Amino acid sequence: MNEYDSDRIINSLSANPVKNPSDADIIIVNTCAIREKADHKAVSAVGKYKKLKIKNPDLIIGMAGCVAQLYGKKLIKQIPHLDFVIGPREIPKLRDLVFDIKESASHRKINTSMDVEEVFKINPYHKEGKVNGFVSIQQGCNKKCAYCIVPTVRGNEINRPLKEILEESRLLINQGAKELTFIGQTVNSWKYKGERFHDLLDYLQELDGLERIRFTTSFPRDITSKMVSSMKENSKVCRQLHLPVQSGSNRILKQMKRAYSIEWYRDSVQKLKEAMPDLSLSTDIIVGFSDESEKDFQQTMDLIEEIKFDTIYSFKYSIRPGTPGELMNTHINDDVALDRLHLLQSRQREISLENNLKQVNKSYKVLVESATKNNPNEFFGRTSQNKAVYIKDIDKKYIGRIVEITKKQAFQNSFIGELT
Ligand code: SF4
Repeated sequence: MNEYDSDRIINSLSANPVKNPSDADIIIVNTCAIREKADHKAVSAVGKYKKLKIKNPDLIIGMAGCVAQLYGKKLIKQIPHLDFVIGPREIPKLRDLVFDIKESASHRKINTSMDVEEVFKINPYHKEGKVNGFVSIQQGCNKKCAYCIVPTVRGNEINRPLKEILEESRLLINQGAKELTFIGQTVNSWKYKGERFHDLLDYLQELDGLERIRFTTSFPRDITSKMVSSMKENSKVCRQLHLPVQSGSNRILKQMKRAYSIEWYRDSVQKLKEAMPDLSLSTDIIVGFSDESEKDFQQTMDLIEEIKFDTIYSFKYSIRPGTPGELMNTHINDDVALDRLHLLQSRQREISLENNLKQVNKSYKVLVESATKNNPNEFFGRTSQNKAVYIKDIDKKYIGRIVEITKKQAFQNSFIGELT
């Protein structure tokens, strides 16, 4: 979501991104507030540019994203060289805001309104010929999980009209995109004028020139049988699903206010796997929420053993301001949570490798995306299951094409392969 917003920021200013900050006229730090660590990092990133502002007083420095939304006024007070803060919903107003600052440098700006009419107005920057792209279909979230700051900083769920989604998709396809990832906080809860997420998948399947459809992040409670059959029937929908479970314990899920039980989650996974046996699953897990006991944590470990996710994004719980979790005084000791996190991550590393090793010497369809950074003779692509594959000694004419690759070597997060 943040990467997408960064590309919208570039487009809204019709900017030419530069590699070296000292060559920039405007520096915007786009931020994430999902964890305490991320928001500290954002503030220190802005601090780094103070010297550049002293050297060049015309330089405009801004902060965008969720940290800007959360602490707007406070940041302007705290950081004298910060010219503006802008929340995620206000990106369509960025161009005017920068123009105002240029006109009158003494005016520092705080744009953090949630009440913006055209939240989807600005499309993201897309480099001509880039094989993959993102399309936002939803902003905000209505779920209100007890630990999560997203509803506070991104507001309630707004679903993008179908027509706009199709228009932006066609635009990216015309610029060379072969694979599009449709994004939203709970993407599969998308609905618009009677159309549901499974209908959207059917419409996207019909887009000429589009070869692959991905979407993220799905909410377990919104997995429906119609969605499962639409995924199965539409050949362009990739065999990959990110389905955050957060905990294997019903007691903790209830405190998290996740609105599903672990039985519901298991049942959804079973239906998905029955329909698509080659589906790759990834998930998010928070360790140490509230009074998570050894037994609760063991249930999470049992779940990962049972489902054998390909990837897990796991974190130690961190208290976020303004969330129900902040008011709970039950949170367990930090060191215990950290030990559990390490245990979980270490077992998951083994599982990811075990899963990958089973795929060696098998053939998969890979969309070749680009040459790798350090070696022009090595190419990078991904399978439908979102597995990264490095391919040596193929012609660059394969970029943007789906080719049959045999996986020759497996690592925890990637493969080396060759043309079949
Ligand atoms: S569904 Fe996701 S984004 Fe929405 S409140 Fe829960 S964790 Fe946050």
